[in-house]
Amino acid sequence: MTLANLRAPARRSAALTADSAFDLLAAVGRLRAQGRDIISFGIGEPDFPTPQHVVGAAVGALGQGQTRYGPSEGLPELRAAIAEEVSRTRGIAVDPSQVVVAPGAKPLIFYSLATLVNSGEEVIYPNPGFPTYESVIRWVGATPVPMPLTEANGFACDRNALAAAVTARTKMIILNSPNNPTGGVLTRDDLTFIADLARRHNCWVLSDEIYSRLMIEGEFCSIASLPGMVDRTIIMDGFSKTYSMTGWRLGYGVMHPELAPLIARAETNLESCTSTFVQLGGVAALRGPQDDTERFAAEVRARAALALELLNQIDGIRCLPARGAFYLFPNVTGACRRLGLQNGEELADRLLNEAGVAVLPRSCFGSRLPGESDEYVRLSIATTLDNIREGITRIRGYVERG
Ligand code: PLP
Repeated sequence: MTLANLRAPARRSAALTADSAFDLLAAVGRLRAQGRDIISFGIGEPDFPTPQHVVGAAVGALGQGQTRYGPSEGLPELRAAIAEEVSRTRGIAVDPSQVVVAPGAKPLIFYSLATLVNSGEEVIYPNPGFPTYESVIRWVGATPVPMPLTEANGFACDRNALAAAVTARTKMIILNSPNNPTGGVLTRDDLTFIADLARRHNCWVLSDEIYSRLMIEGEFCSIASLPGMVDRTIIMDGFSKTYSMTGWRLGYGVMHPELAPLIARAETNLESCTSTFVQLGGVAALRGPQDDTERFAAEVRARAALALELLNQIDGIRCLPARGAFYLFPNVTGACRRLGLQNGEELADRLLNEAGVAVLPRSCFGSRLPGESDEYVRLSIATTLDNIREGITRIRGYVERG
């Protein structure tokens, strides 16, 4: 029997979209299994192993019987370590009672929207942006309102467009700086402008700061550190990108102390808690040496510089420098035109199957904006300089031959 013969799934299930990075990861795996040589600029995960002292701490914890349920809000030792880390890096005083630990940063998007936003309310989110925002906004029955990130504005903040997007119905503004997929960063001035809007319209802010330790240019600034913002902001961060722990599933939110128990209750109902031995790995990550993270951040700067130079040598491609995270988001409109392709999706498809290079098209990062006509793809440059050289040489060969 097929699903079509059974009672239809709930309508809300149609609201959730795929995270195409995972589909691409599977496609790359299939092609490699067939013996194809693929350079992947696909999934966004660091290419260094989880630091050994972190692995050792988690393995030791398992050996000591840390295999049982823990509190939904997280183990006290990890909450304390996170509170110290966030206080230090954001310049605000955070108490452990404000911290909720989760299996990844991603669940915080779900918990925050499900806990704070009613159906019919509006949520502003970065577009292009991490696809989960728009997907979960729709899932809770709210209306996604894009905060357009455009090449013309250096993928930072279009203040006029943002001011026009905020209305009395706006319940939450989602920020992601440094941004996936554009590599754009919100400056302190941008954040001051946004903070003013949030205060005036009494909005919550969900600030996805998962790439805060991966600045390419300038200093990271959290909106929570601006006057009057700490109470209305949920800082979202995690271990995936900073400590190369994507498969461990460990993240956290920092928020108003009266909101934290509500968010923890969502976690009680969904996952009960985050794996306890994983959390003890997290304590070791925060309290131990930071060399691997710092080395990776320095490598990302070198990789971004090389990738930028090579991409901008290609006829039909132009790329702005990334200011943070590990992504480049070149404009490929000219390349599509040269090759007679409709859009970035077709280009990504051709590059994967004909040139052996995996990239993600712009369509993976939220609905197209009204009036948007240019085509973009995202390259995750969390790979070696050699791979970057070879991969972009293949792109150049494919585009310029066409
Ligand atoms: N937020 C952004 C902007 C991301 O790019 C990602 C992962 O790609 C996440 C959140 C999810 O992080 P985690 O693996 O901790 O769930």
